[in-house]
Amino acid sequence: MTPSDRIRLATGDITRFAADAIVNAANTSLLGGGGVDGAIHRAAGPELLAECRRIGGCPTGEARLTKGYRLPAPYVIHTVGPVWRGGDRGEEGLLAACYRNVLALASRHVLRRIAFPAISTGVYGFPLARATAIAVTEVRRFLATDDGMAEVTFVCFSDAISAAYRRALAGE
Ligand code: ADP
Repeated sequence: MTPSDRIRLATGDITRFAADAIVNAANTSLLGGGGVDGAIHRAAGPELLAECRRIGGCPTGEARLTKGYRLPAPYVIHTVGPVWRGGDRGEEGLLAACYRNVLALASRHVLRRIAFPAISTGVYGFPLARATAIAVTEVRRFLATDDGMAEVTFVCFSDAISAAYRRALAGE
């Protein structure tokens, strides 16, 4: 299958999504926060926080794997997106690194169905069109070289996010 055949869009709450792993847009402490991070911790239960505490944090652009506990997904891959500071502080490279590191970690653990939220596009303020273009570029690039990954879903929490992914996928 071509890379694009293995990319899906879904709408709604990623905590309800039954992939092999869902991705969390975490912060460097890995100790929970607002937005999707808070929702994932609430849905997974306190065991997730306990495991994250043992990991001891994660630098921006990197990724860490935990179990999913009470989530439908058996694993969570936590990644820390960059805070948008105007675009000349390496934000685009760091966001691309998030996608690459999540996909590499998933591949190493043979997690073949992955669901991403739109990392950094909430309180971290990354412009949506740029963020979705980076997400689509990195996922396509990865799928072109990795036959093991069966499906990557972008879970869209609003119509604006879903429209941005559609444009990115259409190459606009
Ligand atoms: P960041 O700090 O990386 O910006 P946020 O959690 O504030 O993280 O937002 C990241 C994206 O996740 C935003 O586009 C937001 O709309 C989306 N989001 C928030 N809650 C959920 C959820 N339950 N499921 C999927 N996406 C979500």
